[in-house]
Amino acid sequence: MAITTFQVGDVTIHRIVEQEGPFFDPLVFFPDLTPEVLEENRGWMTDGGFLDKSNGELVLCIQSYLIQTKHHNILIDSCVGNHKPRPARPFWNMMNSDAFEKNLKATGVSVDQIDYVMCTHLHVDHVGWNTKLENGRWVPTFPKAKYVFSDVELAHWTEAEKKDAAAAPWITDSVLPIVAAKREEVVKSDHAFNDLIKLIPTPGHTIDHYSVQVGKAGDDAVITGDMIHSPIQARYPELGMRVDYSSPQAGETRRKLFSCLCDTSTLVCTAHFPSPSAGRITRWGDGFRFVPV
Ligand SMILES: [Zn+2]
Repeated sequence: MAITTFQVGDVTIHRIVEQEGPFFDPLVFFPDLTPEVLEENRGWMTDGGFLDKSNGELVLCIQSYLIQTKHHNILIDSCVGNHKPRPARPFWNMMNSDAFEKNLKATGVSVDQIDYVMCTHLHVDHVGWNTKLENGRWVPTFPKAKYVFSDVELAHWTEAEKKDAAAAPWITDSVLPIVAAKREEVVKSDHAFNDLIKLIPTPGHTIDHYSVQVGKAGDDAVITGDMIHSPIQARYPELGMRVDYSSPQAGETRRKLFSCLCDTSTLVCTAHFPSPSAGRITRWGDGFRFVPV
C-alpha cells in the first residue's frame, strides 16, 4: 500500500489520489526529449516506476493534497472530477469515479470541513472537483471553502474561455461557477496566508502557476503542482512539457526552486509523479535527483 500521509512539524499532509497509471508516450509528452536521451534514462525510470514496464509510457498520478493545520483544512488542486465533458481526453471524458470522494473520506475530513481550495494553476486536471453537478447545475463541491486563484492566472483563463469556450471547457464548468457563486479568493502568486502557508510563484507551465510552501523552516514541504511532471525534468531542468505556456521560463523556475531545495530536508510533494509522489531533491550532475520517500 503506497504511503498517502506525511507529517511535517504540526502539519499533516494527505495525498488524495483520483487515478494512477501509464498515460502518455514520453516522447510526445516531452517534445524535446530525444529517443537517445530517453534510452539513457530508461533503466532508472523503469526501476523507479516512472515508466511503465510493459508499454514504456509515463506513469502519472492524478491527485490532490489535503493539508491539515491546527486551524485549517486546505485542499491543493482538485483533479479531474465527475460528469464533465472532456472530448479531447477520452480517459477523462464524462468520468464517473468514486475514487476521489472515497479517498478524501478516508482522511476523516468531509467536504464541509474544507476551508480553502488552492488551484496551483487552471488546467483540466487541477480544477475538476471544484464543482459538482447538482440538478443540472455546477455548484461548489466544498460549500464553505474559499477557492484561491492567482489574479493573473484567473484573468488569463477567463479571457481564453471567452474567446473560445470549446477549447477550455474546464474553465466553463469548474472555474467560472466558483466566481459566479462568489467563492473565489483572488491573490498574488507570492501571497502568504500565515506563517505556515505561503505561495511561491513558479511560472512557466502556465502563465502564473504557483506552488505552496507548508510548515516552518526545517520542518516543511513544498506542494509543487505542475512546475514538474516527471523526475526526468529534475535531471534535465530545461526539458519542457507539451502544453507549457513557456518552456524556457518553466526551466528557469525548476532550476531556481530546486537549487533552493537541493540537499535540504524539505519534502517535495509532486502532483503527478507515481506513488509515493513525494521525496527530496539532491544534486545529479548539472541537474537534480528526486529521491522518493
Ligand atoms: Zn497537471
